[in-house]
Amino acid sequence: MTRSFWHRQHQAPDRWADVAVVGGGVVGCATAFWLHRLRPRLRLVVLEAASLADGASGRNAGFILPGATADFLKDCQRYGESRARQLWHFTRENREALLRELDPLAFGWEGSGALLVAGSAEEEKRLREGAVRLRSEGVPAAFLPSAEINRRLQAQGFRGGLFLPEAGCLDPVALVYHLAGRSEALVLTHHAVEALVPQPNCVRLETAYGAVEAGQVVLALNAYLPRLLPETAVYVQPVRAQMLATFPAAHRWITSPLYTHDGFFYVRQLPSGHVLVGGARHLHLEEEVGYMDITTEPLQMDLERYLQAYFPQARSLPVMCRWSGTMGFSPDGLPIIGSIAGLEGSYWVGGFSGHGMGYAFRMGRLLAELVLGYPNPEGYTLFTPENRPTFTPEGSSAER
Ligand SMILES: Cc1cc2nc3c(=O)[nH]c(=O)nc-3n(C[C@H](O)[C@H](O)[C@H](O)COP(=O)(O)OP(=O)(O)OC[C@H]3O[C@@H](n4cnc5c(N)ncnc54)[C@H](O)[C@@H]3O)c2cc1C
Repeated sequence: MTRSFWHRQHQAPDRWADVAVVGGGVVGCATAFWLHRLRPRLRLVVLEAASLADGASGRNAGFILPGATADFLKDCQRYGESRARQLWHFTRENREALLRELDPLAFGWEGSGALLVAGSAEEEKRLREGAVRLRSEGVPAAFLPSAEINRRLQAQGFRGGLFLPEAGCLDPVALVYHLAGRSEALVLTHHAVEALVPQPNCVRLETAYGAVEAGQVVLALNAYLPRLLPETAVYVQPVRAQMLATFPAAHRWITSPLYTHDGFFYVRQLPSGHVLVGGARHLHLEEEVGYMDITTEPLQMDLERYLQAYFPQARSLPVMCRWSGTMGFSPDGLPIIGSIAGLEGSYWVGGFSGHGMGYAFRMGRLLAELVLGYPNPEGYTLFTPENRPTFTPEGSSAER
């Protein structure tokens, strides 16, 4: 995009902020919320390249699930028991804080629990054992056999699965706007940050519409992080996810969100009757990478086939809209927080790997505590880059 002489003459004067948050998604707005909540006198600016919630935060299914994958034993296998336990603690706090600090009516919270349904005999066994383990850890969970799952969902063909009563779902766009409003930050939409230029006592964030000078910065860009900070490409890579929504059914029969086949398919039905389904990425792994905001017919057909195979009542529902979103994947599936080199007290965050809603509000608090200089904020060591695997230039991960 070019800028004329006249645009430059009439450009807004530089603005000043104590803290600038770059990225108007759920993580950026949660960070601004917590900065204001913990230090109300701070002057805050949120800079967003498009409009609030334009990224993955406004394109997701709105599930608020615990843990890294919502499957406790899988988390234990991947991250070790102690780390898995801490991840569950962190994400359960995320949900609790959402309900305690905010007005759940403002973002359509539905505390209906969530179902994790197995796609294979092996997953079913793990979920059954996981239910026992979770209860012994004090986390409410119940294993439901196949017949009970299909009865509850008026579905056919599902295996058994796990019911997590604490999980829920919400309207993700409403949440982002609610957070931005409560943060009292100056929100500058259509302000893509093009460069960070260190100054003697601050950093200058340059956009096509003028600059913001800030004492500290948080880059909450998830998938888009490597575009501004190329050195983060070893930690965060863009991956596409697709969804569709049907026209509303006459009644609602899916009353809790559903996560199936190792989380590769997800379904919810809204109180309005619309059915939302997403996933099928595992069937198209090579195509579903990068920043292109497109839907593809083969994947969308897989979503439709899935819905029709398991939910006979959905067969007559025409598709109302289809969309995609860009997720930021990390090599090990966990988010990463890094310090911005040369900018003291400034941080970047990304790599939520398709589960950012389950972390975002609690993560905003952690980022705010880091910016405010709290010593050893709880949860920080889970997400630091030290000893984490990295992507190689070919895109695969390698242990560092
Ligand atoms: C289809 C789909 C379904 C999903 N379902 C779920 C789910 O049910 N539950 C769950 O937990 N997670 C889900 N996720 C993942 C979740 O949406 C993300 O992890 C989460 O939204 C990440 O939030 P964020 O704020 O970090 O990133 P984003 O929402 O991507 O926000 C980053 C923002 O930065 C802006 N930006 C980019 N570059 C610049 C720049 N240079 N200057 C200023 N601004 C810039 C972008 O416009 C964007 O608004 C899903 C994702 C997708 C795509």
